[in-house]
Amino acid sequence: MEFCDLRNEISKIYPDFDDEKLNSIIQKFQVYADFLISENKKYNLTSITEIKDIISKHFYDSISVLKIKKFSKEKIMDLGTGGGFPGIPLKILCEDIDLYLCEPTKKKCLFLEKVIELLNLKKVTILNKRAEELGKKYVNYFDFIVTRAVSQLNILLELSIPYLKIKGQLIAYKSLKYEEEITNSKHALKELSSNIIGIENVVFENNTRNLVFIQKNKSTKHIYPRNYSEISKKPL
Ligand code: SAH
Repeated sequence: MEFCDLRNEISKIYPDFDDEKLNSIIQKFQVYADFLISENKKYNLTSITEIKDIISKHFYDSISVLKIKKFSKEKIMDLGTGGGFPGIPLKILCEDIDLYLCEPTKKKCLFLEKVIELLNLKKVTILNKRAEELGKKYVNYFDFIVTRAVSQLNILLELSIPYLKIKGQLIAYKSLKYEEEITNSKHALKELSSNIIGIENVVFENNTRNLVFIQKNKSTKHIYPRNYSEISKKPL
């Protein structure tokens, strides 16, 4: 995928964006790609280093959710954002979201700070913590939590559901193994009073992205999230 293909895809998702708007969006993605490539060695951010793969596997993959659901003004957390995926590409397209990037690795957070400055993004907060250590302030706080390539769904549920508002949604970017992960998450879903409300497959080039949408139905028991050693020793 090239930048012109990305531009084309974005104009299909947002037919009302004019040329000026599309140009400014693509320019942001170009600056982001250049910076990602130049800083990657220092921060160990991604194994994807070819520009065409960055465009398809990071940028287009990150925004694929917008084919299903558009965001505006919501509080959204990207859990385990790493080099900013999917959170930053979503912010480039949905300027008025209130974005929180949760990432425990300090050096990745330093990279994210520079990206935010470079792209002049507003209303982005970096949370340099593990999700299970975010604390009470963020319980029942987010409308959406997005997450890609962080952990198995049953673990992700414990790391995310407590922080969602009631009726808020976790959107997990999953690979083909999502069915097995869902089967292994039955107990976690029940224990966390949440359920799967949709699964969408977005196909691009040779990839299929499976987006699993999970809704929180009730307040979470106060014991969750437990600390990481308990979560990993006895996953829900
Ligand atoms: N989402 C990015 C990065 C995936 S790598 C992408 O798709 O490219 C997984 C990231 O999750 C790492 O940066 C790691 O530091 C972070 N992570 C691992 N455990 C976490 C936890 N418990 N809470 C928050 N982030 C976590």
